[in-house]
Amino acid sequence: MSDAVPPCVLIISGNDPSGGAGMTADLQATSALGAHPAPVITSLTVQDTSNAYRVDAVDPGLVAEQARAVLADLPVAAIKIGLLADAGIGEAVAEVLEEHPTPPVVIDPVLVDAGGAQLAERSLETVLMERLFPLATLLTPNALELRRLGGETGDRDSRARRLLATGADWVLAKGADEDTPGVENALYGPGEFVEVSRWRRLPGDYHGSGCTLASAITALLASGAAVQRAVAEGQKYTYECLMQAYRPGRGQFVPRRFHETHEAEDA
Ligand code: PLP
Repeated sequence: MSDAVPPCVLIISGNDPSGGAGMTADLQATSALGAHPAPVITSLTVQDTSNAYRVDAVDPGLVAEQARAVLADLPVAAIKIGLLADAGIGEAVAEVLEEHPTPPVVIDPVLVDAGGAQLAERSLETVLMERLFPLATLLTPNALELRRLGGETGDRDSRARRLLATGADWVLAKGADEDTPGVENALYGPGEFVEVSRWRRLPGDYHGSGCTLASAITALLASGAAVQRAVAEGQKYTYECLMQAYRPGRGQFVPRRFHETHEAEDA
């Protein structure tokens, strides 16, 4: 027996039965980085490593009860929110978070999967912008989600600033889904803060890279890292996972979330 309790991370996300994305990605990434994950499932999806075929949302009351049980018992040091699936679940999660002085909250605003399938109801977008983003420490939209939520017009900067205007503290605008030779991620923060990091574009398509990154950052925040450092280290960890990715099925590659660490190169 040991008295040493790892930092606890409450994870609110959906299940992907292929084990590539969703809760499995979240559990593996947080565990690999030394945190104790507390998983609250919002939805069951039917998918393989190529496509998502169906999303069934859990009853919002049941999602809220799971989260309340965890928050009442465990010393939650950070919260990661992934797929919420519908507006009712979004509202229920917002209510729970509003009841507590919350630790850092990372929201990965999952709307579609890597193959383009719709994973969340369009009405969730309003709940994200109005109820959940104001409670967030960090948002991690990909380019498509940033366009959907931050507006079709404008550029990355103006869209990210629109998300910050909801009350979120930081936005990490991810660029892996842009048609660019390299991958550029930009961290926007208080005032005029912008920090761009560039990564070599690795060959192949990946399932669960966004979940891995958001969960890694959350685990690092839970262990006391400041946002900028957690974002930098989380990206390095995810890049290593992708460098060592494997292909368990017939579709996309899956990040190897338990791996030997090397010195990850920035592009
Ligand atoms: N959450 C769930 C439950 C999913 O099924 C998916 C994608 O399939 C995602 C999140 C987002 O995955 P990614 O990390 O590839 O953006």
